[in-house]
Amino acid sequence: MRTKIVVGNWKMNKTVEEGVGLTTAILELIGDGMADCEVGVAPPFTALDGVKRAIGRSGIRLVAQNCHHEDDGAYTGEVSVRMLDSLGCASVILGHSERRQLFGETSAVVNLKVKKALGAGLQAIMCVGETLDERERGVTEELVTGQVREGLDGVDDLENVVIAYEPVWAIGTGKTATPGQAQEVHASIRRTVRDIYGETVAGRLRIQYGGSVKPSNAAELFSMPDIDGGLIGGASLKAEDFAAIVRAACC
Ligand code: PEP
Repeated sequence: MRTKIVVGNWKMNKTVEEGVGLTTAILELIGDGMADCEVGVAPPFTALDGVKRAIGRSGIRLVAQNCHHEDDGAYTGEVSVRMLDSLGCASVILGHSERRQLFGETSAVVNLKVKKALGAGLQAIMCVGETLDERERGVTEELVTGQVREGLDGVDDLENVVIAYEPVWAIGTGKTATPGQAQEVHASIRRTVRDIYGETVAGRLRIQYGGSVKPSNAAELFSMPDIDGGLIGGASLKAEDFAAIVRAACC
């Protein structure tokens, strides 16, 4: 039985004060209702410290949205895994489609980051997913399989890896993949992982779905056999919506 994992990706939203307020509101709404699953919030770098304090001992995981693949040095504007670790981050989102599309991140770079994050003891949430054009051309499986293989190249242990399947056409668009569409790709990701790492590792790996998850569609998506929770963008900015999605995963 895999523990469901729900993470709110706040992207470039929320000041420190706003982030602390949102975290406090989420905690009030969730209460002790997340005993059976893993819940995380991913504020912008600037709010990590403040949100960490607001999280306190609640068990919510502090998640970063990105990191650099070098330890330190002349990389203006970048943040290393050691810095994230020192802030109390438990996880880092890597290879989000916005990083790939807007900042030119390739799977090779994502792979370097995954290895660096794992080496520092952080959980790596590695995002994969196809564009609308790729889906319409019928290359979804090939594309996603390639992203998984490249992203995990040289990674021996998947214990601290989560894969987030996020069809690009569903992110922030209000268009959600149907549970069937999402399940099909999740199953194919698990097959790819099984081919590389074997049955046991594939059976343990958690694969989140991301792309316009809302309180109204969360339960159905999370009920699919290979969907182990969600990476939530827009809906994670509203405490009520995020708490409802967490409830859908945790019960
Ligand atoms: C995301 O950015 O990871 C995401 C899934 O966004 P949204 O939920 O807004 O589609």
